[in-house]
Amino acid sequence: MLMVRVIKNSVTLVESELPDLDDDEILVAMHSCGICGSDLEKVYGNYGMKSVRVGHEPAGRVIKIGKNTKDFQIGDRVFVHHHVSCYTCRYCLQGNYTMCYNYQNSNIDPCGLSEQFIVPKWNIERGGVLKLPDSISYDEAALIEPFACCIRGLNKISIKHGDNVAIMGAGPTGVMHMLLSKMWGANNIVVSDINDFRLKFVEKYGITTVNLNQENLDYAINEATDGIGADVTILATGSIKAFESSLKITRRGGKILLFGVPSVGSIFNLDLNSMYSNEQLIIPSYGASEIETNQALSLMSDKSLDLLPLVTHRFEIRESNDAFKCAHKALDAMKVLIVTS
Ligand SMILES: [Zn+2]
Ligand SMILES: [Zn+2]
Repeated sequence: MLMVRVIKNSVTLVESELPDLDDDEILVAMHSCGICGSDLEKVYGNYGMKSVRVGHEPAGRVIKIGKNTKDFQIGDRVFVHHHVSCYTCRYCLQGNYTMCYNYQNSNIDPCGLSEQFIVPKWNIERGGVLKLPDSISYDEAALIEPFACCIRGLNKISIKHGDNVAIMGAGPTGVMHMLLSKMWGANNIVVSDINDFRLKFVEKYGITTVNLNQENLDYAINEATDGIGADVTILATGSIKAFESSLKITRRGGKILLFGVPSVGSIFNLDLNSMYSNEQLIIPSYGASEIETNQALSLMSDKSLDLLPLVTHRFEIRESNDAFKCAHKALDAMKVLIVTS
C-alpha cells in the first residue's frame, strides 16, 4: 500500500504495510483527499503541532470491517475525521472541543494521504465517520473538513446579517469563508490576496477584490464601509503582514478571526494601549468538531452551497510530489486533491 511521507521540503511515496485490523476498527480505501494549508506548512514551512502526518481530509469507501463493528458495512461511502474529541472532558463540556487532549492525540492510521487507512474505535464511536449520501461525490466529501473548520470559525466570531467582512487570503478556505459570509447575509465583502488567479476566481462571485501588490487595502475597505472599517476580518492566511493589516482595517470594537496557520515563531508586537482603546477582539479558531462536520455535510448535501468549483486540480497518489508543488505555488490552483482510481 502506498502512502505519502514528508521529507525535507518535499513529499515522497513509501510502500507500507497496514497492521491487522482490530475488531472495533474499519479499513477505508481513500478515493479523494485534499491538500490543506497545514499540510503545506508541514512540508515547506514550520508547523507547530505534534502530528507530521499529511492528509486529514479523506473520503473513501469502507473495504473491511472489524467483527464488532455494527454501524458500518463494506461498501459504505464515508468521510473520515482524523481528530475526534472525547465530548466528556472539561474542555468539551465547555464547548472547546478542539482543545480536548484527545482531539489532537486521536488520528487515523497511517494518514489520509494513503491508499488505505485504518479508522480506530475512538473515531468511530464518537461520530468521526460520516456516511455520504449518493448526492455527494468523493471529491466534494474531501472538502468537508476544511469547510467544517470555516463554519466553526464564523460561528466563533458570530458573524451577523449586515456585517461588512474583509477576508485576507483568497485560497480555498478564504473562498469558503466568503461563500458562507454571503449566505449568512454579510453586507459588503472584500477579499484580498497577492495571487491574481485566485482573485479572478473570487470575482466570478461578484465580490470586490484587492490585489495587495497593486491596490490599497485601507482605501478599498474605507470605500466599502463608509470609512468605518470592517466589522469582521477573517485571516485565511498565516501571514504576519496580513495580521498587521487586519488591525488597521477592522473597525473599533470589530472582530478578527485568526484562521490560517501561522508558522511557529510568528512574533508580533502589539501596543496594548491601542488594543485596549480600540476593543478589537482577536479570535483564533483551530480545527472543527463533529458538530461542524455534520453541518458542512448537510449544507453540501442539500446543495445550499456548491463547493466543487473550488477543485481545480486532481492528482493521482503517485503524483503527490507534483500535487504538493502545485498547491504550494498556487499559480493556477485553488483546492488540490489527491485521488486514487
Ligand atoms: Zn485542514
Ligand atoms: Zn474532551
